[in-house]
Amino acid sequence: MIELGEARVIANQLSKVLKEKTIKNIIYMKTPHKFCWVNHDEKTYSSLLKNKQIEDVIASAHYIRIIIESDVELVIGEDVQISYNKAADIGDKHQLCLLLDDNNAITFKIKLYGFLLIGTKKELLETQKYYKIAYESIDPLSDAFTYECFVKQTGLDSNKGSVKSALATEQHIPGLGNGVLQDILFNANVSPRKKIVTLSHNEKIQLYNSIKNTIAKMIKLGGRDSMEDIYGNPGGYKTLMTTKKDKCPSCGSELKKEAYLGGKVIYCPKCQIE
Ligand SMILES: [Zn+2]
Repeated sequence: MIELGEARVIANQLSKVLKEKTIKNIIYMKTPHKFCWVNHDEKTYSSLLKNKQIEDVIASAHYIRIIIESDVELVIGEDVQISYNKAADIGDKHQLCLLLDDNNAITFKIKLYGFLLIGTKKELLETQKYYKIAYESIDPLSDAFTYECFVKQTGLDSNKGSVKSALATEQHIPGLGNGVLQDILFNANVSPRKKIVTLSHNEKIQLYNSIKNTIAKMIKLGGRDSMEDIYGNPGGYKTLMTTKKDKCPSCGSELKKEAYLGGKVIYCPKCQIE
């Protein structure tokens, strides 16, 4: 799943290879996928992309936005493998391919589910609710994401719900999903199940700092090791809390792994206070 860190890493890589390149042609749904969500037919994708120049690639929260001339954007999100290869080596297993004027190609392959949206920024803002949320979101690594902003966005000063529901549900912090949540909470020494009404001021500060530091580290190291970049290389960030691990990396206790509020939580019952 592409979350905040990976979106930034992939957008940076794409920007380097796609900026000022022209899309010579596209291949649409070479291998159809039931959970590939598109918002227009092939004709529209083709007319908006073919013979158009790519201006830049940027990330907004967990969305990767390929900015095309005439204010058009191709927006990618969720569980999508984006790959950069020689046009001769692209294979068949993709739902969209951009063939570039330098004989390279970008392919988009949906894994579990994902979307490939197209339109002008205006259209996307008007019709795609989650695009709008991502577009308008405050980057947690920016100075604008203050402690006060963090508390307001997550409702952390209210008296309802748990730490997981505050931090990683309902797009409170767009792009912070279940994947990055586990390490953020481990680094903050807080259990996902902890009721927010029981959080001390200090624990709230720890959560705030952990969001900034953990995501910054993921970006610096090229994304999580569970994800591949556009060259097929895994990220250099070694995920601490994964289903593959049984012991706490800090104290050696048996990790708890359980379904909780949509998706699995993984935590150390000793290090992470509930
Ligand atoms: Zn532990």
